[in-house]
Amino acid sequence: MDVDEENKTITINGEVISPGQNSLVRIGISRLPTGTLIDIPVHVFNGKKAGPTVLVQAGLHGDEINGVETLRRMLQENAFNIKKGAVIVVPILNIFGFIHFSRDVPDGKDVNRSFPGTRAGSLASRIAHTYTSEILPQVDFGIDLHTGGSQRHNFPQIRYSAEDAKSKELAEVFNAPFHFASRQINGSFRKTTFKMGIPTIVFEAGESMRFDENSIQKGMEGIQNVMGEFGMISKKGLAKQKPSIHLNHTRWIRAPRAGMFVPEVDNGKLVTKGQILGLVTDTYAKKNKKIKAPFEGYVFCINNQAVVNQGDALFHIGSLNTK
Ligand SMILES: [Zn+2]
Repeated sequence: MDVDEENKTITINGEVISPGQNSLVRIGISRLPTGTLIDIPVHVFNGKKAGPTVLVQAGLHGDEINGVETLRRMLQENAFNIKKGAVIVVPILNIFGFIHFSRDVPDGKDVNRSFPGTRAGSLASRIAHTYTSEILPQVDFGIDLHTGGSQRHNFPQIRYSAEDAKSKELAEVFNAPFHFASRQINGSFRKTTFKMGIPTIVFEAGESMRFDENSIQKGMEGIQNVMGEFGMISKKGLAKQKPSIHLNHTRWIRAPRAGMFVPEVDNGKLVTKGQILGLVTDTYAKKNKKIKAPFEGYVFCINNQAVVNQGDALFHIGSLNTK
């Protein structure tokens, strides 16, 4: 894909990282009530040669730890030893949520609904503001790692913005098992980067508070595919993968009644129209409600919650057709 080739220094928190230099910068955010400083560690890898700057981040939702492990492994393996361009790696954006096992910051606000943020706003808004002003102006492309919320397990998938053709190209380069367009949510990181002209993709893989090896592997491969495409690393060593499947139409299948939910399909699998996806039962062996696939498509999210209420989202399925 077309990119600006420009040799640049990166400045974060007043620290200047020149081409050919790497650095770990800590952006001070706030303090715990005990006075302990909370800062966001930011790894900067600035290649010798000119190229784009890619931001790779995880833990914007503090309980979505798959991405944290994905980036930790890549740092451990020196995967960001790049020849050109620059990579900014933020393994945990929402430190508060991470240490509280929570999606949000302590006042219950979601940082991913608080972008671009304000200097004197709520804690979530201040974190977003610091990030938007310190980091985003220097970024050409963004990769944001997430998992399903609560106990919803996402099969590795990329979401891009239909309004932004470059984000779709980036989704294709990343080559997760699935990719599809999804609506930009107000206050989200992705909407803010879109407004700033930074093509961004969201990688959704696994579920919160749980490691999922396949999701971690697909995340690592995808990030390497993007770095390979931009000439930052050699394409030679990259894993051979099946081409990503583009889903044109997606739909949530919800619980028809309250009860115990027993899924009967594996995540990521192709299902036929009318195929039984799972059951919602009462606890007395009296009532059994079968859940059927409304169309042929791929299951790409399954809720692992065992006890559900009517209307709970159970399966997310996507079709190759537009309807
Ligand atoms: Zn998330």
